[in-house]
Amino acid sequence: MCALVSRKKELFYSKPCNVDVMSSDSSKVYFGSIKHGNSGAFASIAAKLDKIIELLDFSTIKPKDKVAVKMHLGFRDGYQTVPVFFIRRVVNAVKKAGGFPFITDNPTAVYNAAERGYTSETCGCPLIPVAGVKDGYTQKTEFNFHSVDSLELAGALRDADVLIDLTHAKGHNSCGYGGAVKNIALGGYHGPSRWRKIHGVEASIPYWDPDKCTPEHAKKLVEACPDGHIKYDEEKHTLSVAFGMCNQCLDCMEADKEVGCLNLRQENYALFQELMARAANEVVKTFDDDKRFYLNFAIDITALCDCWGIGMPHVVNDIGILGSRDIVAIEQATLDLIAKEGLIESMIPPFLRNVNLDPNADMHPFARIHGPMKNPYLVTEYCEGLEMGNRKYELVEVLSVEETKDMKSPSGVSETQPSFF
Ligand code: SF4
Repeated sequence: MCALVSRKKELFYSKPCNVDVMSSDSSKVYFGSIKHGNSGAFASIAAKLDKIIELLDFSTIKPKDKVAVKMHLGFRDGYQTVPVFFIRRVVNAVKKAGGFPFITDNPTAVYNAAERGYTSETCGCPLIPVAGVKDGYTQKTEFNFHSVDSLELAGALRDADVLIDLTHAKGHNSCGYGGAVKNIALGGYHGPSRWRKIHGVEASIPYWDPDKCTPEHAKKLVEACPDGHIKYDEEKHTLSVAFGMCNQCLDCMEADKEVGCLNLRQENYALFQELMARAANEVVKTFDDDKRFYLNFAIDITALCDCWGIGMPHVVNDIGILGSRDIVAIEQATLDLIAKEGLIESMIPPFLRNVNLDPNADMHPFARIHGPMKNPYLVTEYCEGLEMGNRKYELVEVLSVEETKDMKSPSGVSETQPSFF
C-alpha cells in the first residue's frame, strides 16, 4: 500500500496517492453478463456476482471494519433499484471477510426502504441514513468551484472504514448517466448540498443578458420551450433555465436569434459533471486505497434516475454486473457496454421529447435521450483528470457463455417437491 496512505481520519483532507490499480496501463473490470451459457446454477448471474466478489478480493476488509454499502434505495413507487437478492450476497461476503456492513443512503430513502423490500432482515445488515436522522451529521468540505463554496459530506461515509459503492446503472436527466460516480457524488452529501448546490451549478456561468432582453422577449423565450424549462420573473427581470431537465433542443435559441440575449453552452451543462467528479473524489479520498470497491448493476436500465420514484420502461436491454477497484474504469466500461447495446426504441417513453434516433449520429444512447451536451463520458474524463482512476480498462468476463455452454449441466435443477424439511 502507498506510504502516504495512513489511517482514515488523517487521510480525510489529504490528496489521493497513486495505487497499483491506477498506475498500470489499464485497470481490471470484472464482468458477468446477463447472458447465460448453461442452465446450471454455476453459470447463473448470481454465481457470476459471487465470482466477481471473489476476484475483487474482500480480504483487504479487516475484522471489525465498518463497511458502508452505499446504495440508491429508490423512492416512492420506484422498484427498479438493485434487487435485495444481490445485496444480501454482497453483505454476506463482507461478513465472511470479518467486516461489519451497513447499507446507507439519504434519510428519506432509508426510512421508506421497506416499501421496496429493503430491511435489515432482508438485506442482512442495518440500514443507516448517510447523514444522520435529521440529515445534519456532516463534514463541511471546501470546493470553491464556481457557485459552490462548500458541500456537507455525509458523516456515515466519513466514519466508515470501507466503501462498497453499489450502484444501479441507469440514465440521468442532469448528466446523461447515473452510475458509481453519481451514487457517491450526490448521494455522499446531505440534501441541501445535493439539491441547492450541485443541482443548479450549471447556471453559475452567465447565460442570459438582462440588458439585451425586454420583458416581452423574455416571455417569448418562455413560450419557446415546449417543456416549460424556462421561467421569467417580470418583477425582478430575471430569467432561469432548468438545465437539469433541458434536452438542448435549442428551440429557445432559435427564438432568440434576432436578439442574442440567451446563450446555452456546453460549458454550462458540463459544470454538473465536473462537480460530480470533484464531489465523488472527496468521498473516495476518505477511504484507504485498498478499501474501495465498486459494483455496477447494469440491469433494468431506465432513462431516468431512481430518485424519480416511478416504475419506468427499461430503454436498454439488461447487460449484467460489473465490479472493479477503479471507479473510473468501471464507469467507462459500463458506459461502453450500454453504448454497444444501444437503445430499445420501442421502450422510449413519449414524455422524453427530442430523442435523437439518427443511426448515423455518433452519440451515446444516454446523450441521444438527454441531449448532446450531456455526453455521459465527460464525467470519466474529469475523474481521470483528478487521478481517481483509469479510463483504460481490461474487461474480464467471468463464466461467459463460451466458457460455460459445453459444461455438463446438472439434472433435476428445479424443485420437484418441498425441500425445506
Ligand atoms: S434548449 Fe429546448 S428544452 Fe432546453 S430550455 Fe431551450 S427550448 Fe427548453
